[in-house]
Amino acid sequence: MTSTLIFGGTFDPVHYGHIRSARLLLDFFEEARLVMIPCQVPPHRPQPAVNAWHRANMLNLAVSEDQMICVDDCELHREGKSFTFDTLKLYRARFPDEPLFFVLGYDSWVTLTTWYRWQELTDLAHLIVLTRPGGRIVEREELRLWSVGKVVDLDAISCNSGNVIRLSLEQFDISATRVREALVGRQDIAEWVPVPVMNYIAENNLYRDIHVST
Ligand code: ATP
Repeated sequence: MTSTLIFGGTFDPVHYGHIRSARLLLDFFEEARLVMIPCQVPPHRPQPAVNAWHRANMLNLAVSEDQMICVDDCELHREGKSFTFDTLKLYRARFPDEPLFFVLGYDSWVTLTTWYRWQELTDLAHLIVLTRPGGRIVEREELRLWSVGKVVDLDAISCNSGNVIRLSLEQFDISATRVREALVGRQDIAEWVPVPVMNYIAENNLYRDIHVST
């Protein structure tokens, strides 16, 4: 059966940490599509430095050669905050009988208890939590207790939603924050961002004069 993996984020801008993680993730599935979904208005973090359509355009450029990865701009057409709950509801309605997986990095996972209707997310999909390089952030007790009975290995999945899978893929020590800082400092970003995205940033003069918080 085909699985759908949903990788949501701000993607401000998309970088190899996102793209390579997405590609590696697909290797774990016999049959799967992966959808990257840029948010319009992120509810849990400072607002993005560039508008949602630029971020979606960069995502499209980054995955244009990946047959199994596509970009869905559904959150860009929704008014108000971009809640993952609403997106998963949409995908559950679209694929009522298929396994759905929402992908997030560990840094996002530890904030889950602040997300809109967070305890219901696993009614709609499984969650895949990717380890991510960086400082050790500790899970809140509330999250740890909630997830205790849900954490399983990927090969133990037997239903279409309900579980939490922790995956340790190859780690890419890249963040969009670092890319933005480099752009403000007029540094080279070729190591972190695909060439078409780099060109798009240059052609549209993105991130040159933004304020980077320290
Ligand atoms: P920022 O530095 O602006 O916070 P970011 O690099 O974390 O951005 P996001 O668009 O916020 O990028 O991330 C979208 C999702 O991808 C999140 O769940 C995040 O944890 C995950 N992610 C981002 N970078 C990586 C990485 N290098 N490896 C694994 N997961 C990542």
